[in-house]
Amino acid sequence: MNRRHARYPFLQSARQAVQEAGVDLATIVAEDDAVVERALERVTKAVTEREVGEPARDPRTELLSYPVARVLVSLVDENILVRRYAEAEATTAAERFTADSDDDEQFASVGNADAVTREDLLREFDLADHVRSAGDGFRVDVATYLLLASSVRGEEWRLVNRPLADGEVPVDGYELDTLVQQAIEERIAEGLPLNVPDAIASELGEEVGEVKTVLSELDLTTDIDTVVPDLFPPCMKNLLERVRRGDHLPHHSRFAITAFLANIGLSTDEIVDIYEVNPGFGEEMTRYQTDHIQGESSPTEYTAPACATMKSYGDCVNPDSLCENISHPLSYYEVKLEDADEEELEDWREEGDSERSEESPEASGE
Ligand code: SF4
Repeated sequence: MNRRHARYPFLQSARQAVQEAGVDLATIVAEDDAVVERALERVTKAVTEREVGEPARDPRTELLSYPVARVLVSLVDENILVRRYAEAEATTAAERFTADSDDDEQFASVGNADAVTREDLLREFDLADHVRSAGDGFRVDVATYLLLASSVRGEEWRLVNRPLADGEVPVDGYELDTLVQQAIEERIAEGLPLNVPDAIASELGEEVGEVKTVLSELDLTTDIDTVVPDLFPPCMKNLLERVRRGDHLPHHSRFAITAFLANIGLSTDEIVDIYEVNPGFGEEMTRYQTDHIQGESSPTEYTAPACATMKSYGDCVNPDSLCENISHPLSYYEVKLEDADEEELEDWREEGDSERSEESPEASGE
């Protein structure tokens, strides 16, 4: 286990080094406090700072903290944590390899055994044969580009917004590093959450509790309770619009929008208020249905249908580029909320509040 493995624990060679050292994870979590502490820091910093903190001085501790961190993430078992953690590890790795690549250019004759450059990572992820230098930049095979760029946020990454020549997409160095970062993120998220044996899980109860506290303090898991219709997925915007237009919705569509609104935190009263504009609205039915979905009049709390179900009922309308990377309307909304900055959300909340007070006769003194 060397420093290179410690700095880039997702490399195949790092995984192999851990295997060859015959490390028993159950013993590590039971006996090696330094490793567990660093693993906990990796995960909590991923949540709070979107990076994984300063590496431990001892390469063995640093390297072993990576599999333990993956175990912690798995035990907490929240989608948002898996995403944040993989993103943070990949961001840290990208910072390191860009610094290593710069050093490599500067000290080309000396070499640095701990460094990992862009070229090393292209080989690691079998990308070297699909990327070639071209003038100041690079060209990436279109299939490879699509595979990696489809998960990168931003319209500029969509193929329709890119020049395409001879089956290749031109990118600059920074963009290529972003694609490599994406490959790292995918490898880190691969297999998460893991199935964790009870012997390991029982040793990490306290740390799992700590991660859950950090998550709840940041309110990430309940972020989705913020109601910003501008950020709703196209399918739900469409259904909401149809409700407001007074259209008669078939049962599956009405269930989909009601469950979605309930899942993002609207109360039965608020949903009833929204539906009231619809002439086909029946207050009693809406209350019954909403309470049922929310689990108040039934033992189950229902979740809005996934994209596959929405598609099969014809409720998936105008899917956009983000839709290609999610499988549930709630995930779409979650990603949008996460991408929106706090100021934007504040503006939306204020807009929503003033719209509500204009609509409400009591609030406007009518
Ligand atoms: S893909 Fe999913 S989120 Fe997007 S519009 Fe269709 S159902 Fe909605």
